[in-house]
Amino acid sequence: MKKHSPLPLILFFVFETVAVTLWLAKDNLFYLFNFSYIGICLAVSVSMMMRKKPGARRFSQLFVGLYMLVYLGILRGENMQIEGFWYYLFTGVFEAATIHYAAAKIIGPLLFGRGWCGYACWTAMVLDFLPWKQPEGDPDIRRNEKLGYLRYVMFALSFVFVLALFLLHAGNLERIMFYSLLFGNVLYYALGIFLARRFRDNRAFCKYLCPITVFLKPMSYFSLLRVTCDKEKCISCGKCRRVCPMEVDMLDPKRSRKHGTECILCMECVKACPKKALR
Ligand code: SF4
Ligand code: SF4
Ligand code: SF4
Repeated sequence: MKKHSPLPLILFFVFETVAVTLWLAKDNLFYLFNFSYIGICLAVSVSMMMRKKPGARRFSQLFVGLYMLVYLGILRGENMQIEGFWYYLFTGVFEAATIHYAAAKIIGPLLFGRGWCGYACWTAMVLDFLPWKQPEGDPDIRRNEKLGYLRYVMFALSFVFVLALFLLHAGNLERIMFYSLLFGNVLYYALGIFLARRFRDNRAFCKYLCPITVFLKPMSYFSLLRVTCDKEKCISCGKCRRVCPMEVDMLDPKRSRKHGTECILCMECVKACPKKALR
């Protein structure tokens, strides 16, 4: 990332456009505050990263992640988990979780890929504190590809859970959603830590279990922002592949490159390249 890239400003204006549009369309000042806050955090984080400041990505992970989990989730009672998305979708309400999913996980990835996973997710915010930041072994063979199908099981379970609540005419759905947010997060953290320890890989939960990747992966295939390699400069030393936490083959220019839809834009590969061949 170049030091004087306009990316932080672009990010800020994209989020500000969403903030003002939703504020006026929904006549609700909350949207102005919410998207402006997130846009500022991300712009500051990217700007810090461009200036090679330590903790740049951690800054937005903590400020955005904690804001969403503690303030929006626990204090305001908005279920931003995937079951919250299904719940608001079934009730036909374009609020909270549905807007969040549209912006960060369905439309947004067309622009910034899996940026959500690298800079804002409150599950990864905790998992990234674990000691297995760069998984050991050959990046081409270390992953258990078959386990990745479990994400579809989790996705289906979340859908069936909410569907059953509606079909059974369960009472006090708001309350159930609040408790499912609490229980869901505890479960995700427990599974995330267990898998990280088992595979010695902080991001094992993201690779095998996270149901949100069912949205994120196909949308980020078309991402405008992506790491590319200048073959003229590359000396094939392999350092970039070794440090990538998601086993992306960033040397392959094609969109269909191995694990290309898993890039979280962490920029570890760019930092590791001795020839500045990645951008
Ligand atoms: S894959 Fe899931 S758990 Fe991992 S960072 Fe992305 S949204 Fe969060
Ligand atoms: S190391 Fe590079 S290719 Fe791998 S996830 Fe980070 S930015 Fe993407
Ligand atoms: S680290 Fe740089 S020079 Fe080495 S293989 Fe990757 S892109 Fe090429």
